[in-house]
Amino acid sequence: MKAIAVRPGVPNSVHLAELPKPRLEDVPGGRGVLVRVLKVGVDATDKEINEAKYGNAPPGYDFLVLGHESFGVVVEVGPGVDHVRPGDYVTATVRRPGGSIYDQIGTSDMTSEEVYYERGINLLHGFLTEYYVEDAEFVVKVPLGLKHLHVLAEPMSCAAKAIQQAFEVQRRLKVWRPRVAFVMGAGQIGLLSTLILRLRGLRVYTLARAPAPNLKAEIVAGLGAHYVSTEQQSLARLAGEVGKPEMIIDATGASHQAFAAMEVLGHNGVLVWTSITGGERHVQVPSDRVNLEWVLGNKLLLGSVNANREHFELGIKDMALGEVTYPGVIQRILTHPVQGLDNYAQMMRLLVEDRGALKVYVEVASE
Ligand code: BGC
Ligand code: ZN
Repeated sequence: MKAIAVRPGVPNSVHLAELPKPRLEDVPGGRGVLVRVLKVGVDATDKEINEAKYGNAPPGYDFLVLGHESFGVVVEVGPGVDHVRPGDYVTATVRRPGGSIYDQIGTSDMTSEEVYYERGINLLHGFLTEYYVEDAEFVVKVPLGLKHLHVLAEPMSCAAKAIQQAFEVQRRLKVWRPRVAFVMGAGQIGLLSTLILRLRGLRVYTLARAPAPNLKAEIVAGLGAHYVSTEQQSLARLAGEVGKPEMIIDATGASHQAFAAMEVLGHNGVLVWTSITGGERHVQVPSDRVNLEWVLGNKLLLGSVNANREHFELGIKDMALGEVTYPGVIQRILTHPVQGLDNYAQMMRLLVEDRGALKVYVEVASE
């Protein structure tokens, strides 16, 4: 079968590769799920892997199949599988367990080992192919009524984890009822975080570069949040006007923004960093002032990566609640379909060059 792959370490090496079709028996113990891939989303991670900034091939291969945002239909299940059946729509988690205690208890997103195994990203092939077989443990059902949101299940799981973790760590405070949040960046993680925070009742300011009107601003408004263009208003001025936020989610994919957020967080607040930046950028920070303010304000910085099964399920519930609360808004994120694995060059071009491409995804097969 065909697959979209890169040669890790070689910039712009995206190409079509060949893989043998997997079989149910590849997973032992009757726990296999054979899935026909329907759609796969791509994001900045795929772009940076193609730029050879990170990512490694599985042992024994000189290529890595891309794609970690999967949506497919179950074809066949082993006798030990009961949570999904043939015909069900599913997504799959991305990370696979290593050896730490966190990996053993189903929380490989919290592995304490330096080496991590992620399908389509590091040491394991991804989903940009025709079929995959997976242990039932890692296959998550997508309800029929959310079929139209398909590839968003994975990015949603990352946003769900980030926010769940923020509330979890804030239990250090005996009462914490955040009212105002800033979400920095209006890519998929920023928009999905905006959704989750709105569903929790927060006043949300979502920041992105371009002035409104534009699609991101419309989606933000559709979620009942406030869109702010950083070309028109600085972070500091916004905080001066609406108050310092108790929570900031950074999803800009720009490390200088992640650090700039430290200058406006309110007392007892939490700043969550969600993006990975594979570059070599250095910035100057007003370190004395930040140090002083962060100690005097008991502020917390939290990194959040990946998501386990629990977060996928949490995210799917919030997508369902989001659909009934803000009908038809979330699907507007899904802007740029690409037809078929053969069009891998177009996929990468949209991802790299098209600023208007909020979400690029490959329609691998129709049903
Ligand atoms: C993926 C996560 C992954 C992270 C780091 C993100 O793009 O969505 O699942 O853990 O990259 O590799
Ligand atoms: Zn991703």
